[in-house]
Amino acid sequence: MGQVVSVVGGGLAGCECALQLARRGVAVRLYEQRPGHPSPAHHTGALAELVCSNSLKSTKPETAAGLLKDELDLMGCSLLACARSSAVPAGGALAVDRDAFSAEVGRLVGEEPLIELVRERVTRIPEGPCVIAAGPLCADELFDAISGAVGGSRMSFFDAAAPIVDADTLDRDVVFEQSRYGGEGGGDYLNCPMGREEYDAFMEALLGAERVVAREFEQADLFCACQPVEEVGRTGHDSLRFGAMKPVGLTDPRTGRRPWAAVQLRAENAARSAYNLVGFQTNLTWPEQRRVFRMIPGLGGAEFLRYGVMHRNSFVDAPHALDATFKIPGTQARLAGQITGTEGYVEAIASGLLAALNTYAELVGAEPVALPATGALGSLVAYATDPQTRDYQPMHVNYGLVPPLADPPRGKAEKRAALAARAREDLRRYLAARRDLFPDGGARP
Ligand SMILES: Cc1cc2nc3c(=O)[nH]c(=O)nc-3n(C[C@H](O)[C@H](O)[C@H](O)COP(=O)(O)OP(=O)(O)OC[C@H]3O[C@@H](n4cnc5c(N)ncnc54)[C@H](O)[C@@H]3O)c2cc1C
Repeated sequence: MGQVVSVVGGGLAGCECALQLARRGVAVRLYEQRPGHPSPAHHTGALAELVCSNSLKSTKPETAAGLLKDELDLMGCSLLACARSSAVPAGGALAVDRDAFSAEVGRLVGEEPLIELVRERVTRIPEGPCVIAAGPLCADELFDAISGAVGGSRMSFFDAAAPIVDADTLDRDVVFEQSRYGGEGGGDYLNCPMGREEYDAFMEALLGAERVVAREFEQADLFCACQPVEEVGRTGHDSLRFGAMKPVGLTDPRTGRRPWAAVQLRAENAARSAYNLVGFQTNLTWPEQRRVFRMIPGLGGAEFLRYGVMHRNSFVDAPHALDATFKIPGTQARLAGQITGTEGYVEAIASGLLAALNTYAELVGAEPVALPATGALGSLVAYATDPQTRDYQPMHVNYGLVPPLADPPRGKAEKRAALAARAREDLRRYLAARRDLFPDGGARP
């Protein structure tokens, strides 16, 4: 195929998009601004860097995140395969060694003869067919250009990332390995148990601690699914005990009892040399993070490999600014990833895959992709591209977006299983009917 497609952003969506286009015989110029121009959240020059947690969420089919993974497998997703090959134990979730994951994506991109990787910051919407997957921290000039092209329908909010601590600096006499209720992957989580007085003192310190950009943040429209821990704490003295610090299903081996509260730590890599504080996204200043989080039992001497940070998170008002394929009307530019307002690592990967399919369809004169709305991805796309959607906010896949069953079985688990089965069946049928995009009816082209 003669035409070259520009893909802006070597993140999750951009890499998936480039690989999918190349596999269909389309030449790609993949632009990545790092390492020359680092973003506020990225730490390396590697492709497909995970900016915060190393978890790609649940693999369980009864969850929307698990269903999305099944759907992506059916569609021959590349980055999900990279995630599986760099997985670290995490119970029922798919968590990865972030360096191994990025290295694997980098290897695939590097070995693909149809992809030219250009380490350059893009400041305008490229000429010709292009996919802009510049992420929620898209560099300002480009975001202004997109904003101009979509008629000013841009939005942003602040997002927060959790700190990571060095495993060697944890007090192993205090922290203990255990999954809730002794469930799957017993040792994948470490727990820091807290007594009542320790919790009270911790809450007082947390709420009194100094925050970064407090004024700006207070005015900002914060996405509630990613609230900083101190903001959740501010909603009530026990909010964290019922949220990120809930002790249910845990037994402290030192006392044989359930702790009053607990902070969970999740392994960052296969070697378990680093752990993140689950649910501890934060906007505290770095010295305050050191002071306050070291009050958590077991973290008294913790060394912080990375502090929690808070960032702008920019996206366009997709339902009102883009067409049903996430294209800017009247241009050859399509958006993909978090910049479209779909939220989450795997959602970004899925969105890159979809952008590749729609770009390819357009190049070969085929019908655009119309995924069944019964699926995790199809229902998210329907939500994100429906002009009826009001107050558009970044959205993960979730069963709330899926149309209900005509005759649902009783019980939540049974209902979810039926929804997942319907989604898989509908997607299989759709893929089989789109052999122009999926030559073997769904498996990798
Ligand atoms: C601070 C933060 C924490 C997050 N934590 C999580 C989490 O824990 N779990 C989760 O599921 N999701 C999380 N998200 C949301 C989302 O899943 C990630 O942002 C994800 O990386 C989005 O993928 P993407 O491909 O859209 O963007 P990215 O992965 O960010 O990729 C965009 C790429 O484009 C490059 N780029 C930007 N502008 C230009 C330009 N002008 N020219 C060339 N290159 C450019 C960037 O350097 C980057 O490599 C987080 C988001 C933020 C901001």
